[in-house]
Amino acid sequence: MSETKIIPLQQFKHDSAEVAADGDRREFLRTALGGYMNTRTATQHGYQDWEAARSGAAEIKWEAIDRLPELLEQFEANLIKNGTKVFWASDEEEARQYILGILREKNAKHVIKSKTMTSEEIHLNSLLEAEGFDVVESDLGEYIVQQNKEAPYHFVFPCMHLKRAEIKAIFEKIAACPSDDPEALTMFARQQLREKYLRADVGISGGNFGIAETGHIAITENEGNARLTCAMPKVHIAIMGIEKMLPRLSDLSLLQPMLGTAGAGQRITCYNSIYGGPKKPGETDGPEEMHVVLLDNGRTTLLADPEQRDALRCIRCGACLNVCPIFKNIGGHSYGTTYQGPIGAVITPHYKGLQEFKHLAYASSLCGACTETCPVKIDLHHHLLRIRRNSVSEHPPLMEKVAMKGFAFAFTRPWLYHLGTPLARLGHWLSKPIQGTKLDPGYLWRKTRTLPDMPKESFHEWFEKREQQKKAGK
Ligand code: SF4
Repeated sequence: MSETKIIPLQQFKHDSAEVAADGDRREFLRTALGGYMNTRTATQHGYQDWEAARSGAAEIKWEAIDRLPELLEQFEANLIKNGTKVFWASDEEEARQYILGILREKNAKHVIKSKTMTSEEIHLNSLLEAEGFDVVESDLGEYIVQQNKEAPYHFVFPCMHLKRAEIKAIFEKIAACPSDDPEALTMFARQQLREKYLRADVGISGGNFGIAETGHIAITENEGNARLTCAMPKVHIAIMGIEKMLPRLSDLSLLQPMLGTAGAGQRITCYNSIYGGPKKPGETDGPEEMHVVLLDNGRTTLLADPEQRDALRCIRCGACLNVCPIFKNIGGHSYGTTYQGPIGAVITPHYKGLQEFKHLAYASSLCGACTETCPVKIDLHHHLLRIRRNSVSEHPPLMEKVAMKGFAFAFTRPWLYHLGTPLARLGHWLSKPIQGTKLDPGYLWRKTRTLPDMPKESFHEWFEKREQQKKAGK
């Protein structure tokens, strides 16, 4: 199921606490991500200068974001020139209805999909299933989570939380699966999917990069399933966020290896295809019709934010999730969003509402590992702080407002401040028996912190005493 549910703060706390308490699952995740780190580090060493590569990739994506309106127009014009139909979707509903319209017009029944997080974002599968279409994910990880009726756990490794035996049990619901050996599991999925490709009327894919200069779409993958999805059915629909632009075809020479290395520790992903429209007269391969849906869905709101617009540089490699100590402990489903981890916590409040998703910005230790690992140098951990700041200035918590006003009142009246100091000391002493219990108004705060004893004298008292002693020549 590719449904993203809106999880309020309480639900997030509940789900994350549950995963954090599951030591086995956490260990399993950490082992998997440990393997990723080792491979990635080794591959990074193969670059002559990884930091220079990061700077180069960040520059290219900065240029793309700075020139976005112009590049999008160029991209559209070139797509049309190549025979592709273009649809601009301002929100998820427009994108859903356009795709539904094509399927109905073509009398389609069977749809094959390759991995596209943008389609997860618009909840496409649930719509198409409700409308009676047979929709199948062809990426192995996506296929597994779809069969298990759950959302991807991680936007690059969708089924990373499932153990081999669990995957076998999921497959057993479809047909007899001989073993939980990885090769046998892959062959099982392959067998099921072959027939789906042959029957599919429409193929739906995403797009890792849109090349403005040529009107091409570049897709990187490891299984070859996207190639079959895009090329075998008569109609191909690619859905992509408007931020996926690259100015030039030659930019792929840096961005594609960077994506492979940061995402999966590979020098480059196994299959890198460039799609340039439907097949031309005389050509034997390719779809008869190609559509590109360009989705905004909140991206222009982020583009208009001068402080945080660099988040649109994201190439969805997933590296910031892989190094995040919070992700490793609470897993992907706890976020309740299409994009998990640090980048999800940064972009989701822009796409879906600051107040509803501000709590994700607090799910961070602010260690900065995400920023350090990001191949396009997005200032992730500072953005998390900015989201906290923006959410509080938009809706200051009532208690905080009252407390700050009280402080301001007392701190601008020295006599009141002096009176308050011994009173605060007395209050602290009197409240000692209930400190740390549920009767304590600061219970949640103190559950994980110890309030130190108040000093016997204030700084002011100490300073005055010292001055007097100096005068008395002591
Ligand atoms: S923010 Fe950076 S590290 Fe995270 S997914 Fe995007 S490109 Fe990768």
